[in-house]
Amino acid sequence: MHFIDLAAQQQRIRKILEEKVLRVMDHGQYIMGPEIKMLEEELAAFTGVKHAVACSSGTDALLMALMAYGVGPGDAIFTTPFTFIATAEVVALLGATPVFVDIDPRTYNIDPEKLELAISAVKENNPQLYPLPATRNSQTLTPRGIIPVDLFGLPADYDLIKAIAQEHGLFVVEDAAQAFGAEYHGKKAGSLADIACTSFFPAKPLGGYGDGGMCFTDSDTLADSMISVRIHGMGSDRYDNIRVGINGRLDTLQAAILLAKFSLFPEEVTLRQQVAERYSSLLAENESIVVPYVPEGYLSVWAQYSLLACDGALRSALQDALQKEGIPTAVYYPKPLHVQTAFTALGYKPGDFPVSDNCAERIFSLPMHPYLKEDDQKRIAAVINRI
Ligand SMILES: *Cc1c(COP(=O)(O)O)cnc(C)c1O
Repeated sequence: MHFIDLAAQQQRIRKILEEKVLRVMDHGQYIMGPEIKMLEEELAAFTGVKHAVACSSGTDALLMALMAYGVGPGDAIFTTPFTFIATAEVVALLGATPVFVDIDPRTYNIDPEKLELAISAVKENNPQLYPLPATRNSQTLTPRGIIPVDLFGLPADYDLIKAIAQEHGLFVVEDAAQAFGAEYHGKKAGSLADIACTSFFPAKPLGGYGDGGMCFTDSDTLADSMISVRIHGMGSDRYDNIRVGINGRLDTLQAAILLAKFSLFPEEVTLRQQVAERYSSLLAENESIVVPYVPEGYLSVWAQYSLLACDGALRSALQDALQKEGIPTAVYYPKPLHVQTAFTALGYKPGDFPVSDNCAERIFSLPMHPYLKEDDQKRIAAVINRI
């Protein structure tokens, strides 16, 4: 059994994939060819935003978003420690400081109440109020922005987050790397903040056959900045450089592959709902695990289907039992960012974000993809319910 079955999907669209890839080989515009604009237009329309800017990865999408805001040393960027390293890595790369905020125990997304506390703590430079990062020479930080993550494909609570952002004059960048196709009160992930960033890493809900990403925004100025940053800070032409940028382009071939895959995507979002609902009903009676919670008005795209075991020992027992039956599982994330070696300089301690620490010990994810068969799900649930 596969954790994610990309072969089943390829079988369905093999012909259109071949056509689209061959078309690129025929026209030969491997860099910024016409497929880039086609993909940007299709995904902007799907998401319901004015501008989409294709780029080289989800990580670079986040970097380009922060560079569009001119984020740099002295800036505090609030985000969750229960995410993939990239979310906070881009903040540190620009010399700014990630300020971590614990998560809601039911959604695993940033907790708006604690976000308020953390912003006040930074403003008053008061770590008594909320755990704060160490800074060089005890430099004080200026709150600049918030990066909520739509973890496992479930959007964060943007109504509350945006109200807080507005009150404090902060920007919001949605890390929708796992959430393309999800919805929040009728709006698509990718349209929920000032800028949204997604990833086309093969294992994401809309994945390519390599790295890729995209930024979304309704703002003309932010879109212009990101388009410039994407190609070495270009101005009126490629050899006019008006800012320091990056090589952040998406390959034309990757855009062609994504166009083929996108033709199936809306149907796959529906199939993912069915797979997730089946898991949740097969596991509903099991009192030693917690199935995913989807609040009213939200649609998850189920990048992961994650269970919370009652403790770490049960998680290990379940993972071992499943593995013996040839069923792969994974842990996202075993080590929250505040305790990662890369962020030692921030001076955070285990226990600073107790909900994240606790989830890291208990969470694990089951195989999840649109083509998972009911029989396989029954077999998986039988193993879990037997332990
Ligand atoms: C995958 C991921 C990223 C980075 O995307 P890449 O395309 O791998 O660079 C960023 N944030 C989150 C939450 C992710 O899951």
